[in-house]
Formats: sequence, C-alpha cells, structure tokens
Amino acid sequence: MAFESLSEKLQNVFKGLKGKGKLTEADVKLALKEVKMALLEADVNFKVVKNFIKSVEEKAIGQDVMSSLTPGQMVINIVNKEMVSLMGDEMTEISLKPSNEITVIMMCGLQGAGKTTTTAKLAGKFKQKGRKPLLVACDVYRPAAIKQLQVNGEKQGVSVFSMGDGHKPVNIAKAAIEHASKNDFNVVILDTAGRLHIDESMMEELMEIKQNVDVHQSILVVDAMTGQDAVNVSEMFNSKIGIDGVILTKLDGDTRGGAALSIRAVTGRPILYIGMGEKLSDLEQFYPDRMASRILGMGDILTLIEKAEAEIDETKARELDKKIRKAEFNFDDFLDQMEQMKKMGGIKDILGMLPGMGSQLKDVELDDNMFKGTEAIIRSMTKEERSNPAVINPSRKKRIAAGAGVDISEVNKLIKQFESSKKMMKQMSGMMSGKNMKRGKF
Ligand code: GDP
Repeated sequence: MAFESLSEKLQNVFKGLKGKGKLTEADVKLALKEVKMALLEADVNFKVVKNFIKSVEEKAIGQDVMSSLTPGQMVINIVNKEMVSLMGDEMTEISLKPSNEITVIMMCGLQGAGKTTTTAKLAGKFKQKGRKPLLVACDVYRPAAIKQLQVNGEKQGVSVFSMGDGHKPVNIAKAAIEHASKNDFNVVILDTAGRLHIDESMMEELMEIKQNVDVHQSILVVDAMTGQDAVNVSEMFNSKIGIDGVILTKLDGDTRGGAALSIRAVTGRPILYIGMGEKLSDLEQFYPDRMASRILGMGDILTLIEKAEAEIDETKARELDKKIRKAEFNFDDFLDQMEQMKKMGGIKDILGMLPGMGSQLKDVELDDNMFKGTEAIIRSMTKEERSNPAVINPSRKKRIAAGAGVDISEVNKLIKQFESSKKMMKQMSGMMSGKNMKRGKF
C-alpha cells in the first residue's frame, strides 16, 4: 500500500513527541523539520510542504495546549487536522443532476492513467446508486480502447455506446446523449482519448466537447505512481479545460503517495475517488480524514483525543489543576477523576492526559479493576471526610471499611497512598511551573 515509508517516518517522529510530558519550542521545530523531510521524500509538492509546515508550526507554537492533553499529542492532533484540511476536509461526492435529467460526465486524462478502467468502475458505482449509466467510447484513436470499454461495460452490466473510429468525439458525444434520452439513461459517461503527454490537440478536442455538449462534470484521472507529474498534469488540465475533481488511480501500488497530499492544495479541486486495484470493484470513495489517519497510522490516538475533547470539562480540569498545585486535591476530586476516566474508557490510556500528570504516570501498570475497591471506600466516606481527609480518625476508618466491605488495612492503605500522591503531585506541579515550562505553553 502507498504511504508505507511516509507513515513509518511520521510515526517515528511522533513517538519522540509522545514520550515527552512537556515540549519546548525547539522540540516542536525539530519534530516539524523531520515531518518536512518525510513529506518531501514522499514526493509531496514542495510549496505544499512549506505551507503545511508553516501552518502547523503557527498553530503548535502559538497555541495554549489544552489542559487535558499532553503537548505531544496536541502537536500530532494539529498535524492530523492540517493534513485533513490539505486534502479538502470533507469527502466530495460527484455532483449528479436529478434522476429525471441526464448528467453528462466527461472523463479525461493521459494514456495509461487508468481512465477507461476507472470509467467502467464509476459506472458500476452509479448503477449501485440506482442510476442508469451509459458508457460512451469517444477514444477514436485507439480501437483497442473501444474494445476495452465494451468488455468492461459488459462485466459491469452497463451499456456501451460506440460509433467506431470514423467520427469526431464531439459528434459521438452528441449522438450518445440523444440515444440516452430516448432510452432512459440518466448518466452519460464519456471516455475521451488520452495522449502520452499533454498536447494541444487533446485539449482542443476536450474543449470542443465542453463547448458543444452540456458537460455537468469534468473528471480527470491521474496515476498516483507518477508522483509530482500527476500534480502537474492536474494543474494543466484544470487551467486549460477546468476540472471538477480528480480520481487518483493505482494507490494500491508502491507509490510514495505525494500526489494524494498535493492535488487538492495545488489545483483547488478535490480528489473524488481512489483506484485501489485492477478489478472493477477496486474504486474507493476518498475521505480526507481516513486518508490522514491511514498516513499517520494513528486512528486510535485520534479517537482518544476526540473523546478527551468531547468528555473532559475544561473548566473542571483547570480547577483541578489549581487544586493540585495548592495541594487541595481531595477525595471528591479523586472520585470525579475516576468518573471521567470511566466515561472515556480505559484508565491507562487516559492517565497520560490528566492535567498535571502527563507522561510521568503513563508507564505505571494500571487496570480499571484496581479502582473498584478504591471507589467503594471513597463512596463510604461522608462529605466532610472526602473534602477534608484529615478528620478521618480510627473509628471513622472502621466505619468506612465496614461500609465498603473491605478490611481496615485497605482504608489505611488508600489514605496513605492518597497523601503521598498529593505530595508527589505538588512536587510535580512545582517542577512544571519553572521557567519556559509554564502549563499550557511550550
Ligand atoms: P487509460 O489508457 O487511461 O484508459 O488506462 P487503462 O484504463 O487502460 O489502464 C491502464 C492500466 O492501469 C491497466 O492495466 C489497468 O488495469 C491499470 N489500472 C487502472 N487503474 C488501476 C488501479 O487503481 N490500480 C492498479 N493496480 N492498476 C490500475
């Protein structure tokens, strides 16, 4: 699959970031330098890389880090969001007219890009959506192309309109539309002729079709294996004839994948589908967010970050942070934290995100069951005992233990642990508030 090497390199950079509780500006700059190298090596357009890094850097260095996240994760999150936005944010559907009208789609691209195959693949998608597509053989220069379209059309169970190689493509297109309106086809897909390189006569031919036929969508097919050439070809087609979107083929191959990251940014046109193999079913809708996750190899972290963003109450987190600093953290807060963790899933995953704790506690072996007894003990405490653990004398301990159904030694252990973690938190927050390491800033 494409992107393997890019993905591996980015993940190594992020591994370094994740391990750190706090990041300095220099850490971020160094990491972004490595990200930049990785993107350039993956053949991403250099202007795109430059803007991308600039944008990530501004956001990463300028921004207060959310108190529920470690700064490393925050940087990763920014890289991900920028990557999704680079590829166009949302998935783009091919625009179709209502079913009672004929939508004409003109497919274009260089020879060998995969245009004829993709045209047949697309027809299959429209058929699945309940449309009645008609494939039109407009490549009059290569008889083999007409045959290929007919064979693929048959495999897809889709009709193919052909007039052989003795007519001008624009006239074939007009005749096909007439045929479509008489026979109730509602999507007409024109498979136009490609050339080995961009040349004037190909562009003129496409323009002639566009000027004489009501083309609703012009879709360019480019080969991901050609890297930067795919981006240049997209730019040329867009400036000469105007395209509505791109289908990027052969992403199943061993391509470095730079085209997927550059096309939208360079042309302003979305990637609509990606070709993932030679079979007619190997065409996938292009989702920028899924592609970014694929490239960054970090679906799980993102889910976790999303959960944290959705579940953790910022104000509460800041209040807690203050309490930790002043060593006012009590059993109510402890309980609150456990509730938040439960809402979000696994305790071990969440610990690293807790305000003031960061990576220091991340390697500690923990599981959710360990907290069950603790919760029972805290719930057996009175309100006063929870907010002011100092009042818990031996007779209170006995009552709490009985209420929680545990031995009194468990209650002693928890109170002792609580006191020592309070001390540790105070020390840690002291350490973190040193110069250049202010909470919320790199
Ligand atoms: P055209 O000249 O642009 O019409 O290109 P074709 O449709 O004839 O495709 C050229 C070659 O690329 C054929 O061998 C196709 O099977 C192959 N091809 C097209 N799309 C894909 C794809 O997404 N993945 C792979 N691996 N091969 C593809």
